[in-house]
Amino acid sequence: MAHDMLRRIEDLYRELPGVACEGCGECCVSPACTLAEFVYLMKGAGEQLPAGIFRERVLSTPEEHPSYENNLKCFFLTGNSCCVHSARTGACRLFGLPALRELGIRDMVYCARGIKATGDNVDAAWIREWLERLVQVDAALYAYGEEPYFVTGFNVHCWLDIYFDESIDAGVFSDLRRLLRDHLDLGFLEGTYVPQTGLKEKVDKISVLSAMQGMADPETITRLLVSIRDDYPRTGTYYVQEALALLAALGNGP
Ligand code: SF4
Ligand code: SF4
Repeated sequence: MAHDMLRRIEDLYRELPGVACEGCGECCVSPACTLAEFVYLMKGAGEQLPAGIFRERVLSTPEEHPSYENNLKCFFLTGNSCCVHSARTGACRLFGLPALRELGIRDMVYCARGIKATGDNVDAAWIREWLERLVQVDAALYAYGEEPYFVTGFNVHCWLDIYFDESIDAGVFSDLRRLLRDHLDLGFLEGTYVPQTGLKEKVDKISVLSAMQGMADPETITRLLVSIRDDYPRTGTYYVQEALALLAALGNGP
């Protein structure tokens, strides 16, 4: 199962065009990725890094990224270089593609270096279809995208919190932890990793929100949604689109 999942990720990565990235490292935020990609990344990191360095990176204190608001710096960035390059995620491989701008992803800060794809270029429709096939690898494993949690991916720091923090157990999260632990051995960090993102609290608020739909007054629901949207920047984009859509339905659009 794990082997098949990782082979599918590798095949998908192989389809991506090269990007004439200058390697400045400026866009290296904690990358958003699917469960299968997270497993691929961490297994690759375990193979490429000495155990002590791997451990040190994962246990390092998260730093806000100076240029990308509400994003953490990726702990695999060493100077300007990626120390796990061949295991990097799809987001790392796609970033800098000119066609990415056409997808209109909210709050995305694009590569400012005006770089071009090398080899076959691809358009926005192709990237959209590729992303759909990427999330289908996860969809085969768990109740992906189901209400109220809508899990399609997380940044690397959130995946680590899910792996280690057993108190994140609402809905699909217990399944996610079981799958992560079935596919990835991070036992050497057990007992030392401290949750970093506030995901537990955010998920609890999503649970409360789900339970009170149609019962609470709009002001209470709005307050909860604004907190879910704004108070957990370390969780990256998780549930931001959903909170915005619900706020818009209450007449509090952006
Ligand atoms: S994609 Fe752009 S910002 Fe990111 S490392 Fe390459 S050149 Fe730098
Ligand atoms: S995994 Fe590598 S390429 Fe991706 S964000 Fe981290 S340092 Fe950058």
